[in-house]
Amino acid sequence: MPGVGPKRAELFASELKITTDEELLSYFPYRYVDKSKIYKIKDLHGEMPYVLLKGQFSVFEELGVGTRSHRYKGLFSDGTGVIECVWFNGLRYIKDSVHRKEDYLLFGQPKESEFNHALQMVHPELESASKAGVDAQQSLMGMYNTTEKMKRYMLNSKSIQRIILGFLRSHLDPFPETLPAYIVEHYQLMPYNQAIRQIHFPATPENLQRAQARLKFEELFYLQLYLIRSFKMRQQGNRGFVFSRIGEYFNDFYYHHLPFELTGAQKRVLKEIRADMCSGSQMNRLLQGDVGSGKTMVALMTMLMALDNGFQACIMAPTEILATQHYESIVKLLSGMEVRVALLTGSTRKKQRDEIHAQLEEGSLHILIGTHALLEPNVKFRNLGVVVIDEQHRFGVEQRSKLWFKNVQPPHVLIMTATPIPRTLAMTVYGDLDVSVIDELPPGRKPVVTIHRWDQQREGLIRAMRQQLEEGRQIYVVYPLIEENEKMKYHDVEQGFLNMQAAFGPDYSVVMVHGKMKPKDKELAMQRFVSGQAHVMVATTVIEVGVNVPNASVMVIESAERFGLSQLHQLRGRVGRGADQSYCVLVTGYNLSSDTRKRIQIMCDTTDGFQIAEADMQLRGPGDIEGTQQSGLAFDLRIASLAKDGHILQFARDLAKEIIDKDPLLEAPANNLLRRRLSILFGKRVDWSQIS
Ligand code: ADP
Ligand code: MG
Repeated sequence: MPGVGPKRAELFASELKITTDEELLSYFPYRYVDKSKIYKIKDLHGEMPYVLLKGQFSVFEELGVGTRSHRYKGLFSDGTGVIECVWFNGLRYIKDSVHRKEDYLLFGQPKESEFNHALQMVHPELESASKAGVDAQQSLMGMYNTTEKMKRYMLNSKSIQRIILGFLRSHLDPFPETLPAYIVEHYQLMPYNQAIRQIHFPATPENLQRAQARLKFEELFYLQLYLIRSFKMRQQGNRGFVFSRIGEYFNDFYYHHLPFELTGAQKRVLKEIRADMCSGSQMNRLLQGDVGSGKTMVALMTMLMALDNGFQACIMAPTEILATQHYESIVKLLSGMEVRVALLTGSTRKKQRDEIHAQLEEGSLHILIGTHALLEPNVKFRNLGVVVIDEQHRFGVEQRSKLWFKNVQPPHVLIMTATPIPRTLAMTVYGDLDVSVIDELPPGRKPVVTIHRWDQQREGLIRAMRQQLEEGRQIYVVYPLIEENEKMKYHDVEQGFLNMQAAFGPDYSVVMVHGKMKPKDKELAMQRFVSGQAHVMVATTVIEVGVNVPNASVMVIESAERFGLSQLHQLRGRVGRGADQSYCVLVTGYNLSSDTRKRIQIMCDTTDGFQIAEADMQLRGPGDIEGTQQSGLAFDLRIASLAKDGHILQFARDLAKEIIDKDPLLEAPANNLLRRRLSILFGKRVDWSQIS
């Protein structure tokens, strides 16, 4: 390709994974600058998007030593005001090629400096005003993401733009269409050839919008087509045990032992699960439900369905404490029933372990609950029918797959997670799993009251905490880990522990739990808190996901600004499990960014996990949402956004479904192209859909 020598080719490959023409053409601008709109410096403030300025540099200055602080500064003025520009990388190039008293177009995001509140742009893009514009008539200019390394070699947005322009100009033949004609025509989509040119060099805002719509649709459509087809194939491929009987175990439990009325959501989900387990295909279902929504009950009743049909069942939890809690609550629920349940973890004694192994193989043990100890090869079931996996994101895909081979035919699988995932993300990340949602809490729960306190309001906070302790409640105090250096890492939590002891000892007992402690000591401290002997627990985020201490009614989160939304929500879920009013206190410093203020505000406004997950995705983008990476199906979307393009996604999914329903193998001549595109786009992918 013209303009791409060996060095650049190597950079494209190593930095952006681009090695072909098509891949480069699919490297779309991440935003567009309206070159007809030039801002005045006097109108800028620290909360603006990227803006274009036109003016001159007056003074340059080189400052600092060492990679962190060595920088080059320039003052840029347009006659209405002055803004400071700072470069930490590529100093030499800027020094050599940018001159004073020349007109430049400057593009970047103005930010308020933390020191003196002056406006600043860090690493702005700039070009000489006289040479500006690849195409003078074009007012919308695409901006391309580049990495620091690429910038060091002068492969910046501008040069990518030039390379693509050169290629498009030399390639006058139309690019072949990538969607079947019947789709392009029916939905009046912009043809591929036009869309790919307009996306890089839009002639008008309308063209850009149509090009974007077409390419977003295409991207989401093929992804959904791929997911739905794998899902269909798996459904047909994996036969599942048929649990047609609802028998003694289930009914006896339902009519005589169930301590409360099931919520509507629990009933609905149980119906979905039952339908799966009667279908003849293997169930692969993800059960989402906020902390406290009653997933354990659903798991238990699912297992009873297996028992009724002569099968065994197991639950795997990520930690010993969680497994033990499941065990204890399930044994209690089943008391008076003839169901044999056992607990198997890393610390189960040899003698007991041997007994469990024997009873499992012989079939006298019905339900096994445990940690990844269940995966050991010597754990053999007589007839495993259903596997429940709690807190899905702690287990890798490969780990889970091991449970599949514990019977001649894979058992049904129910994965439970308390991390709510926005709907669009679930449709994509788990596009080939069935998803059930418990979106209703058991009645009588009082939503946790969440408040924000500044660091300086600590005295009042201590008084309020003491009052709760006097009423017999327990309290969590959580600190973030400071990653900067190993020695300082635990400083805050250790200091916090001493402070709490000073504030509440000797009347109340304070324990500490953090990652550097020995597992035995950690376990001991946890147990003291769980059993109620300790009243305050000071901890880093190691507090186990899902630990149930109904008497704990206060969650104090220190340096809350350092936590992400989903993490805050998870932590808050530790309280509010009993009948008492619970509180979550977010403690922060004064200096908060606007995103942080939004996070804190959302937490104070709502306890709805799905609303929070949605907001989290809007703030951070879907890439960082927990669960995406571990799913084994982490997709890099090039143009569509799961946060913003929900309606296109829904539309693409519906169409993909319709097509696969009519033509499951895509054999119709009109669908030839679909099959070809799928193998180009997803041919290399490992098919994780085989193992949920
Ligand atoms: P999750 O695992 O979803 O966080 P749990 O299964 O631990 O939630 O349930 C939380 C608490 O709510 C438990 O004490 C459980 O007994 C109780 N619970 C579950 N379902 C109901 C219901 N339908 N009505 C009342 N309480 C319920
Ligand atoms: Mg749970």
